[in-house]
Amino acid sequence: MIAEKMKPYLKNNSAIRMMFEEGKRLAAQYGPENVYDFSLGNPNVPAPAKLKDAIVDILNEVDPVVVHGYMSNAGFPEVRKAIADNLNARYGTAFTENNLIMTVGAGSALNVCLKTLVNPGEEVIVFAPYFLEYGAYVRNYDGVLVEVAPDTETFQLNLADFKEKLSEKTKAVIINNPHNPTGVVYNEETIRALAEILKEKQEAYGHAIYLLSDEPYRELAFDGATVPFVTKYYDNTMVVYSYSKSLSLPGERIGYVVIPDEVEDSADTIAAATIANRISGCVNAPSLIQLAVARCVDAEVDLGYYDRNRRTLYEGLTKLGFTCVKPEGAFYLWLKSPEEDERQFVEKAKKYNILMVPGRSFACPGYVRLAYCVSYEKIVKALPEFAKLAKEYA
Ligand code: PLP
Repeated sequence: MIAEKMKPYLKNNSAIRMMFEEGKRLAAQYGPENVYDFSLGNPNVPAPAKLKDAIVDILNEVDPVVVHGYMSNAGFPEVRKAIADNLNARYGTAFTENNLIMTVGAGSALNVCLKTLVNPGEEVIVFAPYFLEYGAYVRNYDGVLVEVAPDTETFQLNLADFKEKLSEKTKAVIINNPHNPTGVVYNEETIRALAEILKEKQEAYGHAIYLLSDEPYRELAFDGATVPFVTKYYDNTMVVYSYSKSLSLPGERIGYVVIPDEVEDSADTIAAATIANRISGCVNAPSLIQLAVARCVDAEVDLGYYDRNRRTLYEGLTKLGFTCVKPEGAFYLWLKSPEEDERQFVEKAKKYNILMVPGRSFACPGYVRLAYCVSYEKIVKALPEFAKLAKEYA
């Protein structure tokens, strides 16, 4: 018999994954070119050529015992140094390899942070809508997830409700910037305001409140939007990063967490996080891809590709009368369902072979998410189908 804790997961198996399966089914039935699958954040821009070259070079040049061997649980020191130097050059920070732990993607990095910090019963605050796995990650450590209500005018951080939700029991707060599923970017002013509230509450409660900044979409910001580097605004910050989206490597499972020296008890925290990486069963992040990303620290995502998709989809859908949040980052578009129960809207869309994810999969019913990390041609071809869908609500 499986563990009690796993039973709810069987019941609510991720709607996004189910949608992915549905996409495959429709593709087999109608042909993949006639299915408009906007359900999954699986980047379709290929990984940079530089990465393939790096992998080949590493395999040819580096001792196989090193390439395929165990290393420090935090990852290869020279890999961590290359990334720390790159962050320092970009953000004016002063990290060393000791401030970085290589992880099995952002998902694992978040688990490492939560395992390091959260005692049973302590609270972790998230802002709706949010990446629903956060709830599972917090429950892994018997933490209590506390949701801040969405600001449905702007989908920026609802700081008024945040203040209400902070309590003596708050141990950590998770933000995600640029944002999945809304595509918004929190600017410097917002991050400053968030930091001020956290500083005040730390003072009032007399203990640290950690800010976990989940940033797998860091480089995906458009129209000149800048993504603030949060460690500069609030000392007790850990930055979680992934190469899944920026280098199109979701299957490789590679990311890292930055734990600055300014974090309370930083030496113990870094040591505990390194152990958490090990005892979670990951042991260390995959070795070959660690070495490869270190050689690609300055590789860039093809932002123009996503930008063209973003503009075409946003303009196309708003012209048809749909209400969308203007996306400034990541590769998602957040659309207000024209009927109250967005699941009905998602069902109607399937008639036109359009697949979208209901907002309740992000704890925000009444909206749907479209992932536009698909081909440009697919977006162009989907728009007449969206026009038919729009007519059902005219
Ligand atoms: N955080 C957010 C907001 C995400 O959207 C995702 C993946 O879609 C992740 C974390 C997990 O990323 P990774 O593939 O690096 O585990």
